[in-house]
Amino acid sequence: MALFDEALALGRSLLAPRAVVRWRRVVRAGGDRLETGDVVLDIPDVADHWGAIDHVGAAVITIGDATERRVAELWEARELPLAMMLDSVASGAVESLAEYVNDQLCQDGEALGLRVTNRISPGYARWDVREQFKLFALCPGDPIGVTLSEACYMTPAKSITLLVGAGPAARVDHYFTQCARCWMRDCAYRRAPALRTVHG
Ligand code: SF4
Repeated sequence: MALFDEALALGRSLLAPRAVVRWRRVVRAGGDRLETGDVVLDIPDVADHWGAIDHVGAAVITIGDATERRVAELWEARELPLAMMLDSVASGAVESLAEYVNDQLCQDGEALGLRVTNRISPGYARWDVREQFKLFALCPGDPIGVTLSEACYMTPAKSITLLVGAGPAARVDHYFTQCARCWMRDCAYRRAPALRTVHG
């Protein structure tokens, strides 16, 4: 626990959370395909999971590269336990930021009468990781300094991309009840009480 506390304090001093978001209109959807004009996404079973959607929200998020540089220094200094713990803290932080952005997108959508789905990312649940290039075409990472290599590796490493669907009749909560983890206190659209949120 002492090691964790040390890593948490170090992590908090190094985090630089940033996100860029782009909403795009869906011009055609069917089966596994979502067309947004110049970008056509191929997402297995998306119609089954999300139902009828007319917008997608794409985002690139990062906590910066300071934690991974510090992890490398600690590793070099053979401080392996602290290096591993700091790396875990950084992974937890970037996931929490993704949850926070998903909640914010949901709040934005609900205010426009649009239901917003759980987030998904290329490389998960049979969605081909090479679709990262299409997601970066929808929402470039440049504004926050995130780049994508030919091998679909993001730099800084503690970065995530995500996609949500939105529509008046979108099917929400396809893999977890979002409201149960959402920090928005006075949300008029809340579907379930908040059990444990990412916004302490
Ligand atoms: S409480 Fe539910 S509906 Fe409201 S913003 Fe959060 S996830 Fe969306």
